[in-house]
Amino acid sequence: MAALKHSRQRDSIKNFLMTRKDHPTADVVYQQLRLIYPNISLGTVYRNLALLTELGEIQKLSCGDGVDHYDGQIQPHYHVICTKCHKVMDLDMDDYLDIEKEASKHFNGKIEKHITNFYGICEDCLKSDQN
Ligand SMILES: [Zn+2]
Ligand SMILES: [Zn+2]
Repeated sequence: MAALKHSRQRDSIKNFLMTRKDHPTADVVYQQLRLIYPNISLGTVYRNLALLTELGEIQKLSCGDGVDHYDGQIQPHYHVICTKCHKVMDLDMDDYLDIEKEASKHFNGKIEKHITNFYGICEDCLKSDQN
């Protein structure tokens, strides 16, 4: 494998994602990176996001809204997705590891991880509903 060229742009993308809790889309990352690198293209941002995902340095989340979201936090954690505004939020609860034991009982191979999304209506949308 060819040595990976160190890229300041890639570092910036990763650093930006680490500071965000709201799981931005590639477009949001692009808007932000343009402030630092005015000549950067959306294609470059996509390529770097794909590479970082492949390297396991960030997570790509498919949340059912047809757009990929990116997460700088790679520790396994659950997400709640608002079905009204499509916001993706971290759920601050422990991983439910028993579910992997349970799945193992029904599977002859080896279970390594599970990904669970919760769907609901966020606090903001609930509030705006009441008005
Ligand atoms: Zn919402
Ligand atoms: Zn997250």
